[in-house]
Amino acid sequence: MGAMAAKPRVGALEPGRPRPHVPLMNTETPVADALLVACPHCHSLVRVPEARAGEHPKCPRCKSPILSGEPVALDAGAFAAHVERASLPVLVDFWAPWCGPCRMMAPVLDRVAAQRATTLRVGKVNTDEQQLLAGRFAIRSIPTLILFRGGQELARQSGAVDAATLSRWLDQALR
Ligand SMILES: [Zn+2]
Repeated sequence: MGAMAAKPRVGALEPGRPRPHVPLMNTETPVADALLVACPHCHSLVRVPEARAGEHPKCPRCKSPILSGEPVALDAGAFAAHVERASLPVLVDFWAPWCGPCRMMAPVLDRVAAQRATTLRVGKVNTDEQQLLAGRFAIRSIPTLILFRGGQELARQSGAVDAATLSRWLDQALR
């Protein structure tokens, strides 16, 4: 690089270059002991120190509770934020309103979302409305549950399961 050979003026910063040794903080920079969580309401990415996850943190942008303990409906944009960019593991329920077993699963998922509010995001993809997402993950039957962490599929479960079975399955996959 030819620019490197130029002698820098003492005390002057070259325009357009960041000041050295000042860490750039943005939502993509990993920080130890912090969770990167997508807001359930506006889907902004928010950094939550793990030690403060239980203190009902709020979204700086929309003021909604970040770890609300409720399932979040995911369209393609929200899916990208919660599953692909956030660091919190996400259990995604691929479901449809006409599906009886899916309706049976709903209260089970509500409970898991509440019980694991600070450690797991529960997302719901309506496969009738989000056919691209259903196709992308080759959903052949519903309900299908997929557990993601860091955008990677950790485990998949097709068919309705009870709360105890779901809990065991989650604990095993997240170990
Ligand atoms: Zn928000």
